[in-house]
Amino acid sequence: MTKADVDIPVVIVGGGPVGLFLAICLIKKGIKCRVLEKRQEPVPDSRSLGIHPVSLELFDEVGITEPFLTSGLKIRKGLALTEDKKLGEISFEYCPKPHNYILACPQFTTEKILRNELQKLDEDALITGATVKHFDEHEQFVEITYSIDQQTNQQITANYIIGCDGKNSAVRQQASIHYSGKRYNDTYIMGDFEDTTDFGADAAVFLPNGGLIECFPLPNGMRRWVVKTNQYISEPSQLKLATLVQERLGYDLSEIKSTMLSSFGVQHFMAETFAKGRVLLAGDAAHVVSPIGGQGMNLGWLDCQNLAKRLHTLTDDKGELNYDPATLKKYSLRQKKIVKKVGRRAEINMALGRKPGIPFLRNLFVKGILQSPLRNKVAEIFTMRGLNDWWI
Ligand SMILES: Cc1cc2nc3c(=O)[nH]c(=O)nc-3n(C[C@H](O)[C@H](O)[C@H](O)COP(=O)(O)OP(=O)(O)OC[C@H]3O[C@@H](n4cnc5c(N)ncnc54)[C@H](O)[C@@H]3O)c2cc1C
Repeated sequence: MTKADVDIPVVIVGGGPVGLFLAICLIKKGIKCRVLEKRQEPVPDSRSLGIHPVSLELFDEVGITEPFLTSGLKIRKGLALTEDKKLGEISFEYCPKPHNYILACPQFTTEKILRNELQKLDEDALITGATVKHFDEHEQFVEITYSIDQQTNQQITANYIIGCDGKNSAVRQQASIHYSGKRYNDTYIMGDFEDTTDFGADAAVFLPNGGLIECFPLPNGMRRWVVKTNQYISEPSQLKLATLVQERLGYDLSEIKSTMLSSFGVQHFMAETFAKGRVLLAGDAAHVVSPIGGQGMNLGWLDCQNLAKRLHTLTDDKGELNYDPATLKKYSLRQKKIVKKVGRRAEINMALGRKPGIPFLRNLFVKGILQSPLRNKVAEIFTMRGLNDWWI
């Protein structure tokens, strides 16, 4: 088989937020693809919620911003508080327009919109209920075996296979790409509650002596509470979350309607390469960063933009995809640099939320920063600016 005889130039394994967006980017560049996704429906929970300006700019490039703006909620300001006073605030208004805000949008809505936009571009691109079992890499192509609804096995051939199948990526594992990193001691409990606060569309970050509490507005009158815990809570409950908030802030969430509760620990892992032969990785399959700061999904979308550009340069006049390890290596090297930067930013976010040795000094430091011109720099960091610059 030659490169022209394959069924499709690219097969993407995993139709989460990253796989779906990657498919949109590729199709917009004239590269046909199939997304094999084992779930029939988008994720049921609200998991990742923050869409950063840098991602909205990527959405602008492929013309899919509008439905996000219709469904999401614009966060224009973040407040920093202790249990009893305000330390300061950062406004995203001064960030570059037009997207000078963070858009709150639950992950199920994000995936629904991306599925819809992909369907508009190519109604055959997404194959749901398709679980990838294994693949065989040949010199000119990759043969992928998948099952539909866990029944009959089917094969599809492609020039490239791209693993967007999440942090436990089977594609990465089958390609024997090493995934290394560390787990932090930081643990959190989080839940979505009806919003009974006076914060409106503002995010609030509390730095009480007992440990970090963040609360972010969500669309439809909801609010996400994230609370730092002393150890991992294996059975999260409304009572446990409400007790911590009550102890640290004196605010009662025990009777408020909640729609989701979960606990999580924090990890930072990265694949040794995002490109090995005809196997490519993007999103959590390539890297996992701390959810504190809400950067993981956005980082995956940056992979998509870069990868689609690189693959586009490998397309010849007949629309066929060539193989050039040097081009693919450039993708890997650039994204790895960005992941390292994001990891450092996530560490700062987590460090600020840990129990301080001397709370007074930590609060003085935060207050000093937020009352100086440096607060605009902080706003840039919180909105993931300066990661995707062309010279990186
Ligand atoms: C508590 C929490 C809060 C977070 N908040 C944010 C936030 O606010 N902002 C942010 O940017 N990030 C956030 N993140 C991170 C974000 O959720 C992830 O980075 C993001 O979901 C990664 O997307 P992905 O598409 O790479 O992987 P996933 O979302 O894991 O999707 C992988 C997809 O692959 C499919 N799949 C897996 N194996 C196979 C197979 N063999 N065959 C076919 N399909 C397969 C799965 O069904 C799934 O749909 C948060 C994470 C957590 C845990």
